[in-house]
Amino acid sequence: MHAAEADVLVIGGGPAGLGAALAAADAGADVVLVERYGFLGGNATAALVMPWMSFHTRRPQPPRLGDVGLFPADHGEGEPVVAGKHVEVIDRLIEAGGAVPPSAATGYTVPFDPEVFKEVVFDLLDGSGVRYLLHAFASGVRTPGRAGEVVFETKSGPVVVSARTTVDCTGDGDVAAAAGAPYEVGRERDGLVQPMTLMFRVVGFDPTAFSDYVSEHPDQWRSVHGLWDLVEEATEAGDLDLAREDVLFFGTAHPGEVAVNSTRVSQVFGTDVFDLTRAEAVSHRQMTQVAAFLRDYVPGFADSYVAQSGVQVGVRETRRILGDHVLTGEDILTARKFDDVIARGTYPVDIHNPNGKGTVLRPVPAGDAYDVPLGCLLPRDVEDLLTAGRCISGTHEAHSSYRVTPTAMATGQAAGVCAALAAASGRTPRQVAVAAVQAELIRQGVDLGARGLSAEAERSC
Ligand SMILES: Cc1cc2nc3c(=O)[nH]c(=O)nc-3n(C[C@H](O)[C@H](O)[C@H](O)COP(=O)(O)OP(=O)(O)OC[C@H]3O[C@@H](n4cnc5c(N)ncnc54)[C@H](O)[C@@H]3O)c2cc1C
Repeated sequence: MHAAEADVLVIGGGPAGLGAALAAADAGADVVLVERYGFLGGNATAALVMPWMSFHTRRPQPPRLGDVGLFPADHGEGEPVVAGKHVEVIDRLIEAGGAVPPSAATGYTVPFDPEVFKEVVFDLLDGSGVRYLLHAFASGVRTPGRAGEVVFETKSGPVVVSARTTVDCTGDGDVAAAAGAPYEVGRERDGLVQPMTLMFRVVGFDPTAFSDYVSEHPDQWRSVHGLWDLVEEATEAGDLDLAREDVLFFGTAHPGEVAVNSTRVSQVFGTDVFDLTRAEAVSHRQMTQVAAFLRDYVPGFADSYVAQSGVQVGVRETRRILGDHVLTGEDILTARKFDDVIARGTYPVDIHNPNGKGTVLRPVPAGDAYDVPLGCLLPRDVEDLLTAGRCISGTHEAHSSYRVTPTAMATGQAAGVCAALAAASGRTPRQVAVAAVQAELIRQGVDLGARGLSAEAERSC
């Protein structure tokens, strides 16, 4: 069955897909967005990934032991570097009472309520004219080497959606891979990817009792993680068998609630159904254990319980679709700038050990941001396709930074704009002038840093 035809087809309704669909519609395209679940938001709703990380430049001083925060404290009063659709979404969430504005109190992250977010997304899409189809899983393309006709498995049987330009926002690069675009997986030395984590919301939390404990044990908490001694004690008592040395949790939009990011399943791959099945079983058992540890060992959690776990285990890393440019860890850590910048990021290289305990965190230079060039969104060997979000072209190290929500939404917005311009002019995305993409992004409120300023100057001459 042929379900729909559009200028731009966006597949995947996570942060990248929302950015792409809203931006393409804003640029004048007729857009269809297709998502496998019955709601939108991607990891932010399906995997309860909270909060959205800071999109501000980093402050010079890293957080110290004893910081009693419930939010990451390494970003500061610096410049916000992601604007456009990401900020429009945040503003709508705040208006709906579903998010706390980024400030020193939130470590410049955005704590939000995933249920309010689901509702706000429907309003935003309906207001923008984007058509959407839910409960439809992209399983392949009609013609190898082309992404203009995509097949979806649905309760109504297989359906096809066709478009002039397609944007793969599946996080896993499902459509790009099906169309034949080359990709890489995992770290260079052994191909292992970051572990999966089942996130869960714990309510009945008493922040005062917890903060009193941290004040008395300042060597036991740093920003959003720690409790090393209690973890060791519970492990020795046989009450905990964690694949990490500490626990990690964040405050949310609600005072008596935390979002716990402490389960860890390694050596599993998010496009392998057997690995996913094993990861769900293992991580749910880990969640039960961590929740009991918090309740029985950690001051502030005596009356707590799990209110909700993710619809699915959170998948950090799968395919990275190779494009015209492959962003590297060095590009991130030197805050490299590109003439064809279409998005910017400030989040550190953040690699949860693919094979055991430990996390590597390496910051972007304080007060600075790196550029993502348009070439990272242009897959090799497939001409009518763009990628956005966590499946764009980069190394394992670079991916660990640009995978976060604000940057994913920013690359989504850029891909949506490029797709709309390509569809309108009958060109392929690769043939669209980058200056035209940048000009439309700036018109949509995106901040492209120095390149954006020179594009403005060129326009006004
Ligand atoms: C455990 C964990 C913790 C994290 N912590 C943070 C954090 O604290 N803050 C932060 O900002 N970021 C965090 N991240 C990163 C962030 O959540 C994601 O990387 C981000 O959501 C990427 O956005 P995306 O749109 O590219 O992909 P996703 O959010 O994965 O969205 C992809 C969408 O595509 C849909 N889809 C997938 N395949 C198909 C298909 N074949 N057909 C149709 N639809 C499909 C999915 O259902 C989903 O809606 C975390 C990630 C994980 C896993």
